[in-house]
Amino acid sequence: MDKNLDGGATLQHTRQDVASGQLVARQDERPWLFVRYEKQGSGIDILSLWYIDASFYHIYHATAASLLPHSVRCRRPSLSAPGPEACCGESPLLPMFLEDCLMQYDHIVLGAGSAGAIVATRLSEDPQRSVLLIEAGPDYPTLEQLPDEVKHGYATATDIMVSDHNWQFVGKATDKAPEMMVPRGKVTGGSSAINGQVFLRGVPQDYDAWAAMGNDEWHFEHCFEYLRKIETDTDFGDSDFHSANGPIIVRRFKRDEWLPDQRAFYNACRAAGFPDSPDHNHPDATGIGPVPCNNPNGIRWSTALGYLSQARHRLNLTIRPDCMVHRIIFDGTKAVGVEVESGGQRFTVAGKEIILSSGAIASPHLLLLSGVGPQEHLRSFNIPVVHHLPGVGQNLRDHPIIYITWRTQKEHPLDPLAPRIQMALRWTAEGSPLRNDLMIFMSSFATERVNRGGDRMEPLGIRMLGVLDLATSAGELRLQSTDPHVQPFLDYRYLQEEFDRRRMREMVRRAVQLVKHEDFQSIIAERIEPTDAELASDEALNEYLLREVTTGQHISGTCKMGPASDPMAVVDQHGHVRGIQNLRVVDASIMPDCIRANTNVTTMMIGERIADFIRQGR
Ligand SMILES: Cc1cc2nc3c(=O)[nH]c(=O)nc-3n(C[C@H](O)[C@H](O)[C@H](O)COP(=O)(O)OP(=O)(O)OC[C@H]3O[C@@H](n4cnc5c(N)ncnc54)[C@H](O)[C@@H]3O)c2cc1C
Repeated sequence: MDKNLDGGATLQHTRQDVASGQLVARQDERPWLFVRYEKQGSGIDILSLWYIDASFYHIYHATAASLLPHSVRCRRPSLSAPGPEACCGESPLLPMFLEDCLMQYDHIVLGAGSAGAIVATRLSEDPQRSVLLIEAGPDYPTLEQLPDEVKHGYATATDIMVSDHNWQFVGKATDKAPEMMVPRGKVTGGSSAINGQVFLRGVPQDYDAWAAMGNDEWHFEHCFEYLRKIETDTDFGDSDFHSANGPIIVRRFKRDEWLPDQRAFYNACRAAGFPDSPDHNHPDATGIGPVPCNNPNGIRWSTALGYLSQARHRLNLTIRPDCMVHRIIFDGTKAVGVEVESGGQRFTVAGKEIILSSGAIASPHLLLLSGVGPQEHLRSFNIPVVHHLPGVGQNLRDHPIIYITWRTQKEHPLDPLAPRIQMALRWTAEGSPLRNDLMIFMSSFATERVNRGGDRMEPLGIRMLGVLDLATSAGELRLQSTDPHVQPFLDYRYLQEEFDRRRMREMVRRAVQLVKHEDFQSIIAERIEPTDAELASDEALNEYLLREVTTGQHISGTCKMGPASDPMAVVDQHGHVRGIQNLRVVDASIMPDCIRANTNVTTMMIGERIADFIRQGR
């Protein structure tokens, strides 16, 4: 049959298609949903064909025998006042449909980043679940459509730090530091689509520490299979610690690919007594070795490429890019939907479960805007309190990072398009009980910071990036406005503890020592930062650290998971927001502490693990 529908779109289908029950056709990119409706005892067997757009349900009724000659177009019921506001082509069956078949998704995932893209992909593997994935940034369904700055992992002529694919937040590092740039991905794939592609697992003790805090499902032995599940490790394949079947492709730079300064760094570390670490993702790894990277052929293998691409064809998965969530809607303490901005208009959409995967900045931000958080803070912004949860936005964790930079000799090649980071050194600070709490990445191409006039393609020299893992100082995130477009205040409070400063000083001094190795002599001309004067005493070096420390890009912990006995826990270990029904947080914000590694792998593991919890009904 051939029926002319709203807007002139024509849907071609046969009665047989309709009778097959699960028909969902696509017309002008609109999902069509076939609903079979049987009213018990009424003897009526009714079929209904729906599509939903921004404002209307378009409903076409049929009896088992034939499509009814008329259609119904009804305004979508608002969540605050359920029920049709207006109908054209009134049908006597409509109230029954609205009562029993109200269009709502089983799961609405907010944010298509490292975790959200995985949650949506895994949940939609079950055709019985309808999943809506909402993303504020754009979506590029194919590799060909992907802009170079997102696709190319090393660098492009455009700068991701000042791109529309980046939220471009700012934050406060310390009282002595200038405002710092805080990039976050705003595109499907989220921060995994703009990040440095270091693919590093936490050490087993990280996950065991989470378990010791009362999250007993998160021991390393529980997480391990999920860490494997993510990857296709092209170097170690299917083996004791790796997999060859996961969606994210991983490789390490081979010896013959190491750039001269990377080779010098490796040799200097070995000469200083650090062990060889051919696989930094081995549970016992420590020392110097090539960094595992998720960038096959230089392509940044984000969760949009690795995960969403295998799920896009599914009719039970709807991906809506360029839609910014403003707040979660509650009925009492039950989450029932979300308010979303799309094309300059506001919409509400209903879901049986809302999954907040907007990252460690936006997830607590959205909770606060929705009335879930410290009640005094909410009241100071006149936000009605849905539930008092003092931990929302607290426990802001990250890896403080410090640069040690050298000008190179004229003959030393500095190529902005070559890989920048190939090698990492991991070790335990002197007297520290925390294994592998220090990490240095060697960068073959250093530039001035973008917010100080730098250009990411203009070389300054080479650099070591000193990363402090398991910093003891924590910060907080607070509202600055009730306008969702105004970013929250990000107060990182780095290096407040002497233990953190001491470890950072050790790291800087270690870096300065390493370049005394003979292999660096033909590479380095002079040290740019820190200066000799800044290295002269602990006090002078502290000043340097407090002024120059910046983000390692690994913000986490702002909705930490923990047991009911922990008043600062925001979610339980299955991601459920405490005191709220039908709402979970699944992203980097639920880590109780920032692991001893870059955060992408662990965030993806969180996505995989909680998707399984959801499927198990936990
Ligand atoms: C520049 C940079 C470099 C990094 N380098 C590395 C690295 O080399 N290795 C590593 O392991 N980690 C790295 N990281 C960190 C890592 O990428 C993140 O920890 C990880 O991606 C976080 O995942 P997530 O799911 O928590 O959040 P994200 O991946 O940031 O996803 C959140 C998503 O939610 C969307 N969103 C936010 N607010 C809204 C809203 N209101 N409405 C709708 N959608 C919304 C965002 O647009 C985004 O797509 C880096 C991060 C950055 C920014």
